[in-house]
Amino acid sequence: MAFDYDLFVIGGGSGGVRAARVAAQGGAKVALAEEDRYGGTCVIRGCVPKKLMVFASEFASTPTEAQAYGWDMSLGDFDWQKFSGKLNEELDRLEGVYRNLLKNSGVESFDARARLKDAHTVELSTGESVTAKHILIATGGHPVRPDMPNAHLGMVSDDIFHLKKLPKSVLIIGGGYIACEFAGILNGLGVEVTQYYRGAQILRGFDDEARGLIAESMRENGINLHLGTNILEMAPASADHSASHAGTASDAAMGASAGDAADLLPGAGARGEPVWVKATNGAENVFDAVFFATGRDPNTADMGLEEVGVEIGRRGEIVVDEYSQTAVPSIYAIGDVTNRVALTPVAIREGMAFVDTVFNGTPTPVDHDLIPSAVFTQPELGTVGMSEEEAREQEPVEVYCTSFRPMRTAFAGKPDRVLFKLIVSEKTRKVLGCHIVAPSAGEMIQLAGIAVKMGATKEDFDRTVAVHPTMSEEIVTMKTPMRTA
Ligand code: FAD
Repeated sequence: MAFDYDLFVIGGGSGGVRAARVAAQGGAKVALAEEDRYGGTCVIRGCVPKKLMVFASEFASTPTEAQAYGWDMSLGDFDWQKFSGKLNEELDRLEGVYRNLLKNSGVESFDARARLKDAHTVELSTGESVTAKHILIATGGHPVRPDMPNAHLGMVSDDIFHLKKLPKSVLIIGGGYIACEFAGILNGLGVEVTQYYRGAQILRGFDDEARGLIAESMRENGINLHLGTNILEMAPASADHSASHAGTASDAAMGASAGDAADLLPGAGARGEPVWVKATNGAENVFDAVFFATGRDPNTADMGLEEVGVEIGRRGEIVVDEYSQTAVPSIYAIGDVTNRVALTPVAIREGMAFVDTVFNGTPTPVDHDLIPSAVFTQPELGTVGMSEEEAREQEPVEVYCTSFRPMRTAFAGKPDRVLFKLIVSEKTRKVLGCHIVAPSAGEMIQLAGIAVKMGATKEDFDRTVAVHPTMSEEIVTMKTPMRTA
């Protein structure tokens, strides 16, 4: 049977664009449908704008540090409008780059929503139907609000990038990396940040000691972090609520205030208005904005997936094998929609492995082992491999760990601490996990990740000469295990 295309990709985000482009460069006839903006979550409402906001927020601490080093410098006002205008220009530029990457590789783009009609046919919202020998679903995910009355009053991460102005106060619900990163960003930009997380510690799944230091640093930076606390009720902040609750003891303790929040978001209606919140600990407060960072679900709704036989998992994800193939042989899925490891470089890897498997005659399973990653809190967390808690469940380990005040901020009289930690197998001597909490830990872990991926032993680390004076030299100078487990 003759098909219109060799490959039809649904979704123009990190994974989809890479797969489409590489397959087309290899000679395949490829088309791609994107219903929103090219570049997807990472470029338009994830990694890129977030990292630029991290950079913006970090300047807040520059003047006090500079003063300690002898500079006459003071902190002026932060101009959100100026920043967000420039941010949007940059995102427009990047979207153009993504569109051109596709065009220059010979990929035909459809600005349309796509759904499956059968194992080889895609229906587009433009009314067209096209056929393809292979279909790749790379539709990503979306942020979810909790199932509770008035949850629509809360913002999600997508909204943050569209704020017309910054709220004076915000309540962030959640303890994952997105919640913690935005707590740091907004705090740095001068917003009064309160964060509720129902669990006992933020950043579940990461190394406990690293989590502890980050939570402590967040509090030191002024974030009002409440663990074991969740949102119980929320409602528009009526005059009633403001009058009865603003300025109460609990308000003061929680550091929240009702500012002039109206009109935070363009066209959002109630979502840009102040919100009254009752917490599980009984505290009642009014915040200019509530931000739910309570998880993301795969984009699989209304795509005709089950009808054509694609298996959907418990969280709405597309179930795939190690080659990213679904239960329908002609249909593959990569990236966040498969809910494996929801990170941009992983979606890209999965896209490349798909092309190798299907178009290059090299069946390539995706390697999800030892993926380095970073959390852009202040300080950052860089991590690769197992946490101490995971590793000691599997085998006897030695734990090498040091925490200290780094030279740069110690000189400025700041209390900031950093942490360097290695988890080492007693038997094989391999470094099973490396965890760094420090400024630029994301940059450091990329390099440490190579050694860990290569299977470096503790003795390999020891043989490496230190770079002095740096923070990261500690990673090769820790001689005695702090404990065995
Ligand atoms: P996406 O990039 O989400 O792309 C999917 C695309 O499909 C979207 O453009 C969507 O509009 C389109 N689409 C959906 N349904 C259809 C349809 N039916 N028809 C046509 N088009 C459709 N990862 C990191 O590695 N580092 C980070 O620092 C980081 N920070 C993040 C911060 C935030 C706030 C968020 C939300 C995510 C972050 N991520 C980060 C995760 C990263 O953005 C994702 O893992 C990555 O974008 C997944 O790529 P993808 O190709 O699977 O999907």
